[in-house]
Amino acid sequence: MLQDTFGRVHDYLRISLTDNCNFRCTYCMPVEEMQWMPSSKLMSKEEILKMAEVFVGLGVNKIRLTGGEPLVRKEFPEILQGIAKLPVEATITTNGVLIHKHLEGLKAAGVRSVNVSLDTLNREKFQKLTRRDQFDQVWENILLLLEEGFRVKINAVALHGMIEEEICDFVRATEKLPIHVRFIEFMPFAGNHWSSKQVVTAKQMLDLVTAEYSVEKLVDEKHDTAKKYQVPGFAGTFAFITTMSEHFCGDCNRLRLTADGRIKNCLFGKEELDLLGAMRAGQDVIPLIKTSVTRKHSALGGQFTADYLQADPDKIDNRSMITIGG
Ligand code: SAM
Ligand code: SF4
Repeated sequence: MLQDTFGRVHDYLRISLTDNCNFRCTYCMPVEEMQWMPSSKLMSKEEILKMAEVFVGLGVNKIRLTGGEPLVRKEFPEILQGIAKLPVEATITTNGVLIHKHLEGLKAAGVRSVNVSLDTLNREKFQKLTRRDQFDQVWENILLLLEEGFRVKINAVALHGMIEEEICDFVRATEKLPIHVRFIEFMPFAGNHWSSKQVVTAKQMLDLVTAEYSVEKLVDEKHDTAKKYQVPGFAGTFAFITTMSEHFCGDCNRLRLTADGRIKNCLFGKEELDLLGAMRAGQDVIPLIKTSVTRKHSALGGQFTADYLQADPDKIDNRSMITIGG
């Protein structure tokens, strides 16, 4: 069991399959040109599956494949198949644009829930934000997932200047569609030019929604990062991921493995231990995993405090989100 010094048990692993992506979301990738990792530095398919097996042996029962964009990794189907053979709930986070090519594989692997990122319902804004004209394909794929019976969560990063105009449109979309939209407060990572002024908090967003709709608070499950709501009678729900205004670190059960095989015990943690290097040198990775868990800080990677207004992005030592794996 992977228990840290604060009593938190870690049973959920997110594995990044690549730092590469077919989108260029401005809040996720460094504005400066990205240098992709050479493939020799990435975990191979076999190494990913070996790592996953080790983590499962230590009590992990849920694995999320992410990236970069996990579906651009050529061996994605085989990796997913391999993960599906383990006694875990397998799931993915994707920008959705390639979903139609992977539906059968997702079904065969027993994936039931898919997180699709979509920050705007407006085609022009989508193109500006992702630097790709793919809104229609992503939306079609969301509908396809629903038709095929998947539970679809939509991740929308709440960007100041955009979410204010769109939040009620997203909530309106939950009237007929059984989608679960999660508005994520904008977080600071290397190269994304974060400032506290760009954060729109859950409270501010909820005020905008309740100006138009009466809403009901739903019960949140254990380890849920999202605070859920519903407009009574609507098919879907909406929620807020309040990392900045009200962190949920006290209940954290998540670990991350970067595409180059480093364990991160926190999204905001600066410490990384090189599991891949150890594995390639024929060493046992379990002591490193345990060390990483033991060193986990109580909150926010120990890099800033609950008062996000005081967070100084220049003092946060971390990777860009695209290279961590969200
Ligand atoms: N490419 C996939 C996707 O877009 O879903 C998976 C990787 S992406 C890094 C994972 C999630 O992180 C996405 O939902 C994305 O919107 C979110 N994300 C990226 N940068 C973020 C930031 N600065 N603040 C909040 N969420 C962010
Ligand atoms: Fe790519 Fe996802 Fe980052 Fe957008 S949020 S650049 S789709 S990894």
